[in-house]
Amino acid sequence: MTEPVTAMKPDREWIIRCPRLGGEVPFSYCEREAGDLPCRQVVRCWEAGFPVERYLRETLAPEAWERFCGQVPKDRMTTILDVVGAARQRKK
Ligand code: SF4
Repeated sequence: MTEPVTAMKPDREWIIRCPRLGGEVPFSYCEREAGDLPCRQVVRCWEAGFPVERYLRETLAPEAWERFCGQVPKDRMTTILDVVGAARQRKK
């Protein structure tokens, strides 16, 4: 019997330089920086090290994942497309 494929499990003691705090922090801090949610920058900060988005999607409760996605800042292009879409809706 084979086990389901899951995201790579990070070592919670992995260290990264935090652009917000200006010092080093472990992944365990980033994973719970917002109380029961990860820091909203966690994907941007950790994606070069391991598939962090996939890991979070698989480990957070569905409700927590939804709340996390709701607080992640949109990237610039998504924001621009949203503005263009809103402007088109107003013209109609
Ligand atoms: S995920 Fe948040 S707390 Fe962690 S290094 Fe990035 S900005 Fe800092």
